[in-house]
Amino acid sequence: MNQHVLVLNCGSSSIKFAIIDAKSGDTPLQGIAENLGATNGLLRYAFRQEKTIIELPDNASHKDALSNIGAVLNKFDELHSSLIAVGHRVVQGGEVFTHACLIDDTVKEQIRDLAKMAPLHNLAHVAGIESAQAAFPELPQVAVFDTAFFQTLPKHVYLYALPYSLYEQYGIRKFGFHGSSHYFVSREAAKRLNKNIEECNLITAHLGNGCSITAIKKGIAVDTSMGFTPLEGLVMGTRCGDIDPSIATYMIEQLDYSAAQVSSLMNKDSGLQGISQLTNDCRALEDEQAKGNEQAKLALDMFIYRLVKYIGSYLAVIGPLDALVFTGGIGENSSYIREQTIIQLGHLGLAIDDTLNSEIRFGRSGLISSKHSKPIYTIATNEEWVIAKETINYAFKA
Ligand code: ADP
Repeated sequence: MNQHVLVLNCGSSSIKFAIIDAKSGDTPLQGIAENLGATNGLLRYAFRQEKTIIELPDNASHKDALSNIGAVLNKFDELHSSLIAVGHRVVQGGEVFTHACLIDDTVKEQIRDLAKMAPLHNLAHVAGIESAQAAFPELPQVAVFDTAFFQTLPKHVYLYALPYSLYEQYGIRKFGFHGSSHYFVSREAAKRLNKNIEECNLITAHLGNGCSITAIKKGIAVDTSMGFTPLEGLVMGTRCGDIDPSIATYMIEQLDYSAAQVSSLMNKDSGLQGISQLTNDCRALEDEQAKGNEQAKLALDMFIYRLVKYIGSYLAVIGPLDALVFTGGIGENSSYIREQTIIQLGHLGLAIDDTLNSEIRFGRSGLISSKHSKPIYTIATNEEWVIAKETINYAFKA
């Protein structure tokens, strides 16, 4: 019988889950429990192609959601009995976790402790881990960290030019996020290039609601755009990315914002949403731009410009490029963003093939560059598969 891993991604108000075949990566069942803690909680799942929606009780907790997920699994008896481990995505592993690990009480405490640097994410992960331990007490549980892939960043890259004591005393440094995605697409790109990953210089752009870009030299992450938190770097759906840090102090000192208001504004009301004053949704902005909406165009132009700037700077860092990779909801689907980005990089040896670019969308992966260009790929990411494989690696380590 095939063995499966339950992969959980617990956010503050949602739990994404997937049952993944430990050998093939086949995903027979996946779903999301959403609006937890609110009155309109829902559990949606798809078994193969068959979709189901269940209403959750008002103010459902992570524990309620996981016992409902357990009940769904019970319906598919063979799947439930084939589960061998649970893998948890954990956003912030700090400097404590350089790789995935089996969860025990100490690990749980360390993840909770790291919540001071990622309060929304890590506290939700701990709630998810505890609920999963209660729902599946017989299964080993493994934490897989977003930050682990960036442990190879050199010190002169991960430090901010602040007093060194801030790093020594409080651990303030760049961590990087979306590690499982950058890891997955970089390895897939190496396969397509027919090279060992250790021979590859790559730039991987994960463009979704959150966006990050990573410079990979000889298979190793040497720089990435997200920082101490997932706020730094590219323009995102609702996050501003790079700004002059003095804007935060100006808003507090001169405009009477509280620190919490500044944080909320930069995380939730900025980016594509803030500039367009319409939506954080890239596809909707492309539609609005086509109708002549100037704010939508400005938001997309800013998104593309920041991306071009990062690609240019990472080209300078990694040496001769083997491939540029797009992934994430925007990277995998928006032929417009890909095309407009590459047009601006023509003088650096990159060129798009219009036909390939329009064809490679909606979960398809493939080359989108022209014959005369360095290779550019769109690769559908699969973070859950990375988490499942890491879970198997660490659940049964002696
Ligand atoms: P998350 O970071 O929340 O996982 P996703 O990776 O699903 O987000 O990316 C969501 C983004 O992908 C949204 O901005 C959405 O508009 C964009 N997107 C999805 N499909 C398309 C499309 N066909 N064209 C342009 N953008 C798209």
